[in-house]
Amino acid sequence: MSTPAKETGAGPKGDFDWDNLGFGLVETSFMFRTECAIDGEWTMGSVEPYGNLSLHPSAAVLNYGQGIFEGMKAFRTEGSDEVQIFRPDQNAARFAEGAGRMSMPPVPADVFVDAVKKCVSANREWVPPTGKGSLYLRPLLIGTGPILGLGPAPSYTFLVYCSPVASYFKGGKMAPIDLVVEETYHRAAPGGTGSTKCIGNYSPVLKVQLAAKKEGYSDVIYLDAVENKYIEEVSSCNFFCVKGKTIATPGLGGSILPGITRKSVIDLARAKGYTVEERNVSVDEVLEADECFCCGTAVVVVPVGSITVKGEKTQFYEGKTGPVAQEMYDELTGIQSGKVEGPDGWLEVVPENYHL
Ligand SMILES: *Cc1c(COP(=O)(O)O)cnc(C)c1O
Repeated sequence: MSTPAKETGAGPKGDFDWDNLGFGLVETSFMFRTECAIDGEWTMGSVEPYGNLSLHPSAAVLNYGQGIFEGMKAFRTEGSDEVQIFRPDQNAARFAEGAGRMSMPPVPADVFVDAVKKCVSANREWVPPTGKGSLYLRPLLIGTGPILGLGPAPSYTFLVYCSPVASYFKGGKMAPIDLVVEETYHRAAPGGTGSTKCIGNYSPVLKVQLAAKKEGYSDVIYLDAVENKYIEEVSSCNFFCVKGKTIATPGLGGSILPGITRKSVIDLARAKGYTVEERNVSVDEVLEADECFCCGTAVVVVPVGSITVKGEKTQFYEGKTGPVAQEMYDELTGIQSGKVEGPDGWLEVVPENYHL
């Protein structure tokens, strides 16, 4: 794949190989950045060339992990030149919530949505053609002002960068994943920060995830930290299981990340006549399920082929994709590409030259 240089300006060179796009970072042309003092107000910012940040060694984010992020996607609409972002208002709300949890000044929803639209607009040529992938957006809010003693930073940086990413399943053919239940380590505890995309939540899962991958699993399932009995979620995806026409997913008790894909799947499944229950889901119950799947912005929906508990592997649908996972994947990707009409307000159009 030809990795375009930063200097190419507005977009990739004409020979960019969209068919060989992967999931790694591809540097795009521009990023959005703005700053705010702890007692100040966020104002609409602007885009600048993509590049390094310069940070004070005593920046709060480096010393105390004062930072949160978001993950969202922009898509080209089938059969038109339009580019749309999936449910940015939802990410804006979660970002503001997370800022409060981490003692940072929340970015107002209008400033947040304006920022992601400017980032997409400036990098419009980097949005992959329909069916080849999407433009993954990464808003970040970090404490950049210097502080030595433990306390909130005196100033903050809000930035949005992006990278084109491939569709997780090329051609829509889903590949089920094999999961293992983690019984020693926990991702989050009651009263902690599990419901926030704070930067400190993610490095601790690597040890467990890497060990599971070494054993041939795709990822781990985390259990609740109190009883070690109920399913919470996978490292960066929410979990669902299906029995007949009933779909169950762990309820949001503060230790689970309130996924926007999760919320969307719940709405779509209910509209299709399924009963969806948000409640405690035990490992024992899951092993009796017809099928299981995970969901998140990156994967959209991914079927679970098997779950291993204490060395014992249980397969679902003989390790193949279950019908509900397929139905939810088709519906969501259909809505995102404009092929299927979704509920009102799920897609926000990015006007051309919005960033100028
Ligand atoms: C981001 C994330 C999810 C999925 O959330 P979406 O809004 O659907 O992308 C699930 N679990 C964790 C731990 C996450 O960080």
